[in-house]
Amino acid sequence: MSPRNATNANPLLADWSGPFGGVPSFDQVQVPHFQPALEAAMEQKLAEVEAIAQSPEPPSFENTLAALERSGRTLSRVMAVYGVWTSTMSTPELQVVEREMAPRLAAFADRITQNEALFRRIEAVYEGRERDALNPEQARLAWRYYTDFVRAGAKLGPQAKARLSEMNQRLAELFTRFSQNVLADESNRYLVLESEADLEGLPDSLRIAAAASAKEKGLEGKWVIENTRSSMAPFLTYAARRDLREKAFRIWTSRGEGGENDNGAIITEILKLRAERAKLLGYATHAHHRLDDAMAKTPERALDLLESVWKPALARVRQEVADMGAIAKAEGSELTIEPWDYLYFAEKVRKARYDLDQNEVKPYLQLEKLREGLFWVAGQLFDFELEPVQLPVYHPDVRVFEVRERASKRHVGLFYFDPFARPGKQSGAWMSSYRDQERFDGEVTPIVSNNANFVKGAPGEPVLVSWDDARTLFHEFGHALHGLASQVSYPTLSGTNVARDFVELPSQLLEHWLETPELLQRFALHYRTGEPIPAAIVEKLEKAATFNQGFATTEYLASALVDMKMHLAGSQAIEPRAFEKKVLDELGMPREVVMRHRLPHFLHVFATDGYSAGYYSYLWADVLVADAAEAFHEAGGLYDCEVAERLRRHILEAGDTVAPAEAYRAFRGRDARIEALLRDRGFLEAT
Ligand SMILES: [Zn+2]
Repeated sequence: MSPRNATNANPLLADWSGPFGGVPSFDQVQVPHFQPALEAAMEQKLAEVEAIAQSPEPPSFENTLAALERSGRTLSRVMAVYGVWTSTMSTPELQVVEREMAPRLAAFADRITQNEALFRRIEAVYEGRERDALNPEQARLAWRYYTDFVRAGAKLGPQAKARLSEMNQRLAELFTRFSQNVLADESNRYLVLESEADLEGLPDSLRIAAAASAKEKGLEGKWVIENTRSSMAPFLTYAARRDLREKAFRIWTSRGEGGENDNGAIITEILKLRAERAKLLGYATHAHHRLDDAMAKTPERALDLLESVWKPALARVRQEVADMGAIAKAEGSELTIEPWDYLYFAEKVRKARYDLDQNEVKPYLQLEKLREGLFWVAGQLFDFELEPVQLPVYHPDVRVFEVRERASKRHVGLFYFDPFARPGKQSGAWMSSYRDQERFDGEVTPIVSNNANFVKGAPGEPVLVSWDDARTLFHEFGHALHGLASQVSYPTLSGTNVARDFVELPSQLLEHWLETPELLQRFALHYRTGEPIPAAIVEKLEKAATFNQGFATTEYLASALVDMKMHLAGSQAIEPRAFEKKVLDELGMPREVVMRHRLPHFLHVFATDGYSAGYYSYLWADVLVADAAEAFHEAGGLYDCEVAERLRRHILEAGDTVAPAEAYRAFRGRDARIEALLRDRGFLEAT
């Protein structure tokens, strides 16, 4: 199909039709549609923006900011579908399109933020006479536009602007190559187990999934451990064969390193460009630029938090390693714990100390039942009900649910659920928004999705997930609820469009409901007997809640600290492997623990600017989360309706219409305190 023909009948350019204010026509889309649709939609948006910039009317909120909110509708729709394909349906054909389009999309964004006439109008509205007449949300929107434009270089001279745009285009190219390299290593490097002897220690569920993966790859009769966390983490936890654990560990932790998909030079160049760009924009470093717009405000405040938790976490790791050593010794081996031994021996300690075997828990964690559990929690807390609906999907694994308010039957939005790993899908789990809620021009309801990489079981068998995977499920659904509950006027301020270090509050908070007996008794049902998980196991889970937090916190903090320090390093050339080592040495990183994301595959930081100098956000948000969970407990428990109502009103519904610190204060009646977090992780005793 030639591009021209594709434009003529391009389903991506059509309005979304069907129920609920229109839905994406996923079933019509083919890869050759993307490039012409993106080109046409960018063209259309530029024309709309130019009309706003050149308006003969004096600048007003309505003819400038409301008009901007109204512009680019086609592009938003195309980008929503494009995002689905690039993150979950990637093919070599699509990757060519991505490499071509990434720099052009970056240049397009710069053409808008660098439009002088447009910026003067935004500035006039932000600073102008009309200001007092704006309602609080409109005033916030004016501030948001003005700030975003200035942060993107709107006040620079023509030469600096040109250089900035050049850098942004190059960065977009590098980000794309970085992600494609990681995806290639995740798809092409995996662990093949040849015989029964290689499976020693592995639980049935993992054996079944590994056999299914092998079959899919044409390796029938063998077993494949996929290069994703959902496969590697359980393997490292149970595999008795130390040599195979080491092999798996090396495959997993060297994604993006070595071979034809090496990300080393890409990282060096990204960091150099980011440093130069920050300088150009008037900031000391990239970290200063990024943090200026976050709740933390300065890199120092973020670092203070990370460092205050680092020492207690290290102390815990030392205890954990000592406990593991004792177990190994009791089993007759004097081995030194290596990084590939950590999860394996930790599991033995868990069994010994808490009499808790994760394999005892797993038969009760059926993906489908947990999904029902998520929906039940949404009903308990926010009076939402979710029912399946038949709508076009992009892959047969995807299911769609309509979200309604139970009492009023009001349509709230749509939830797309895409839980399984497949070739061409990015690893990890995430939420995305296909359409943000808004109402300034009439009610537009949100469409959101959750995506994960759970491994499918054998045909006809229920999919069993680990406790960690169950947490992930709740985490992403927390983001989904944030998008769904939104009650704002303007899409720019809607749902999850909030500061990076605030956006993880709803998601990390929702993880807490997984642990409640109310949820577990109803939805943690044995996959064969249907019996609810025994109270004795739930009690053991509670007792073991702070178990292995030294490891979990340290692997996370190491990534967050390296991320921050790397983006504080300014213009010095950074060789990632050496830099990683230097920072970890200075920190006193325990040799038994590896960074949760090493630099060569740190997608948070190098796939976009998204979480660059921002990986600290998870801990920042967790301070809020632990403190918010205490608000529920003080009121009698996590199902307290009154606290849930405050959470919904002040945080979920508000989007970015209120500054995050203010929103939190409105919910809690005070600022968050760190004690709850330290208590949750069992660190108060350790210090
Ligand atoms: Zn998240």
